Formats: sequence, structure tokens, C-alpha cells
Amino acid sequence: MIIFRQNQALQTYLKKEKNDGKRVGFVPTMGALHKGHLELVNQAAKNCDLVVVSIYVNPTQFNQQEDFDKYPITPASDIDALLNSECAVLFTPSTQEIYPNGTDNLPFYNLGVLETVLEGAHRPGHFQGVCAVVERLLRIVGPDELFLGQKDLQQCTVIQKLLELTPDIEVKLNTIPTVREESGLALSSRNKRLSEEGKRRASTLFQVLQAVGNGLQHGDLEAVVEDQKQYILENGFESIDYLQVADLYKLEPILSKENKPVAILVAATIEGVRLIDNIIIH
Ligand code: AMP
Repeated sequence: MIIFRQNQALQTYLKKEKNDGKRVGFVPTMGALHKGHLELVNQAAKNCDLVVVSIYVNPTQFNQQEDFDKYPITPASDIDALLNSECAVLFTPSTQEIYPNGTDNLPFYNLGVLETVLEGAHRPGHFQGVCAVVERLLRIVGPDELFLGQKDLQQCTVIQKLLELTPDIEVKLNTIPTVREESGLALSSRNKRLSEEGKRRASTLFQVLQAVGNGLQHGDLEAVVEDQKQYILENGFESIDYLQVADLYKLEPILSKENKPVAILVAATIEGVRLIDNIIIH
């Protein structure tokens, strides 16, 4: 594995590989790597000839300074994990490389409704920051395929929209199913901030998503959602930002199951750590 910190050196290297006919798969991350990230690397290796992983904790996508300050940074174990994976190139740029002109005058991305629902509503500016960093990384790396996790479902939808807004970036977007602990808890870098008891309780979120999924088929959806919110709070969560059934493609809330695929999404905070999760029902 080769590690690059500078755009120029990375691009020179990748240009040669691409000229040799290699198809590049790209996995952007913020580090503190776990098996979910490594599954994206696996899938990228299956579909492409050369896998590039980036690790960059992007300041512009954090809407709370405290969350940014507390974000886990584990470079030694990240490199170890990637050395045991099919990652060929690790890119760990500095902020100067990503935002050479600073972060005050970033482009505005018209994401429409996506910025007013779910994460968009609860984390103002978050998706603008996500788009800024992903556009920049895509322009630097120039991959053939991009690999993202369904764990951040709305982020996948936002990046799909970003690709519509930037038609000169040609890349195939792949969304990889969420990797979970045996308990059902979705793997997340933020889980590192939970106690063992907190992790045990946090698996409630997956049970709740499944219960709402069952309710969707059989019961009064509004009542099921209210019951399940109560259940989340009884299991040690401090607060809930949303537990919502939404149209899979637009992510707009729906009140009853129609004949189209839906996502059930949740965001809630336990031990001061905000967790998100979702399932898709076809
Ligand atoms: P992050 O480092 O949290 O920004 O995540 C980097 C990528 O890994 C994103 O595309 C995430 O959706 C994906 N990811 C995070 N957790 C998981 C998981 N448990 N399973 C699959 N993909 C994941």
C-alpha cells in the first residue's frame, strides 16, 4: 500500500495506473476504520483493479464543533487495517490540500428537499460540507467507481444529487449494505465513544427499525412509531431526532405503505453520542 498526503503526487501516480488500463474504485472515509469501511474496500476490490481509500475528517460537514473535536482519530490502527485489506492507495490529505482557498466561500449545492428532511433538518449545513469534500475528492482521485455505505442512506442520495449537479464528473455510485454487530448495532466510528452498556442498549435502534417495518405491513403506522419512540427512550437514549418512514428515493416522509420501496430511518442520542441507522423495505 502506498500512502499519499499530496494531491499532485497522488494524481501523478494514478495517471500512470489509469493509462495502464486500471479501473479505480474509491472509498472516502473519515478514518477510525471498522469492518463496515473494510467491506466497502472489499466490494471496491471486487469491482475495480485498484482501490483508493481516503481518510480525511472534513471540518465543513460538522455542524457542532464538539462533535468534530471528539471525532475519533486512530491513524496507526487504520493503517494496520488497510495493510490487511485490498487497499492499494491511502490518501490522507491535509486541509490545505482539500481547501486551498479556505472554507469561507464554498460553492452552494442546490439539494432541494434533501436539505430540509431528516439529517438535513437536524444538521444544518452538513450536506453542503459533504458535497464540498466529496466533489473535491472526486476531482482529485478521478475514480471510475465510488463506494458508499447504506448506513448513511441520505448521504448516498445527496451524492447521487451531487453527481447530477456536476455532470462532468463521471463515476458509478455503488451503495453497500450496512455491516452490523451480532446485536444488530450498525458499525460506526462513533460507537467507539460508547460504554459497553451503551453499545448493548444502542442495539435497540435496529430492533425498533424492524418493529416499524412490521408495523408498516400490518398496523397503524403512526401508533407503531410513537410506541417505538417510547421504547427507544425507555432503553436509555436521551433524545430522538427522528424515527421516520420515507420514500426511498426522495426521502420525503410517508404516512402509510404504498406500492413503492420505503426507508425507515432513525437518529437518536445515547451517552452523548448521536447515532443514525436505517433499513430499506421493498
Ligand atoms: P465515515 O468514515 O463514517 O464517513 O464513513 C465512510 C463510509 O463508510 C461511508 O460511505 C459510510 O456510509 C460507510 N460506512 C460507515 N459505517 C458503515 C457500516 N456499518 N456498514 C457499511 N458502510 C459503512
